[in-house]
Amino acid sequence: MSHGRDSSPVLPGSAVGVLGSGQLGRMFAMAARRMGYRVHTLSPDEDTPTGQVADVEINAPYEDLDAIRKFANGVSVVTFEFENVPAETAAAAARCAPVRPSGAVLHTTQHRLREKLFLSNAGLPVTAFRRVTSLQELVCAANEIGLPAILKTAGFGYDGKGQYRIHSSTDFENAWSGVGGREAVLEAFVNFDCEISVVAARNGSGQFVHYGAIENRHRNGILDISIAPAGASSRVSAEAVEIARTVLEKLDVFGVLCVEFFVCPDGKLLINELAPRPHNSGHFTFDANITSQFEQQLRAVCGLPLGAVTQTMPAAMANLLGDLWEPGEPDWNAAVSVPDVKLHLYGKSSARPGRKMGHLTALASTTEQALADVEQARALLSR
Ligand code: AMP
Repeated sequence: MSHGRDSSPVLPGSAVGVLGSGQLGRMFAMAARRMGYRVHTLSPDEDTPTGQVADVEINAPYEDLDAIRKFANGVSVVTFEFENVPAETAAAAARCAPVRPSGAVLHTTQHRLREKLFLSNAGLPVTAFRRVTSLQELVCAANEIGLPAILKTAGFGYDGKGQYRIHSSTDFENAWSGVGGREAVLEAFVNFDCEISVVAARNGSGQFVHYGAIENRHRNGILDISIAPAGASSRVSAEAVEIARTVLEKLDVFGVLCVEFFVCPDGKLLINELAPRPHNSGHFTFDANITSQFEQQLRAVCGLPLGAVTQTMPAAMANLLGDLWEPGEPDWNAAVSVPDVKLHLYGKSSARPGRKMGHLTALASTTEQALADVEQARALLSR
């Protein structure tokens, strides 16, 4: 069994460690087990989506550095499916096994301000933003970038959590107390035409692959639908891919990273945010591509050659949020009665509103048909 400390690859039969235990880790573990790897997961939770399919599930807080060291000593390489692990956790793990992507990548991407500074210093296009540390600074920042704007917590935010829209000066106090009076970022509100993302992977040899531009539709700040390939023009898609390539190279990512963009009415791209791991918008690759984003993460962090990204058919993905469970258990039989639709459930026992419980992927000869099929299947769930 090889150890990933030097440049030799971590080969099948080895154990890979995943920090975090949600659905992204679950699908990673499924890809890893298929290729004969063992999977260990660590998170503060029990009976987790990842733990249910992993070989070993360790239940410990991310701050328990003894548990982290024990976990990392038991595997050949550590990756993560949840980027908000503390920097000390990544550093403690890195003393026992390689952590890929590195703690430095985590450090940049888990904090909106550091991420935006990295992107703007790299000459990449981001929404106008200001750092805000007091109510007074919020008022000044709003004067500079104009209203409407969105105030976002600087750290540990995702899926629209910790975000407050500011339409007029009467919203300042609410927004400032909403972010808990802590360091925040004020962003100009973008009147975008659509949102797209690029999921890409890079390994230690510098090999780079991507899944093209994916169109994303959100509801209440949470991803609702993804369509691949996106309907964006080939110029916009190519530019998005080149930006993603630059981001992975400049951050020296060994793994998968997703870049989320706003497409403005004039065709200009603005980066919304980065996620240094497989992304919800890339879930369709599990069914539609020769190599899924999860297998690509495995290959990249293990130092293996990356797989072909060829998409076999146009695809659409619809998230299944906990809200669907409110009237009772969804009608699974009806949903799988649409033959080109694949059902994915994450094994979560309690369905809370807004919680990602699973998704559906439809494959069809056109993206329009795939979208119609996935929406039909989702509607059938709650009839
Ligand atoms: P985030 O968690 O920052 O990705 O935000 C979730 C969603 O909120 C985005 O995908 C957009 O749909 C919306 N959003 C976030 N920031 C902005 C912005 N500056 N302008 C317009 N919409 C935004």
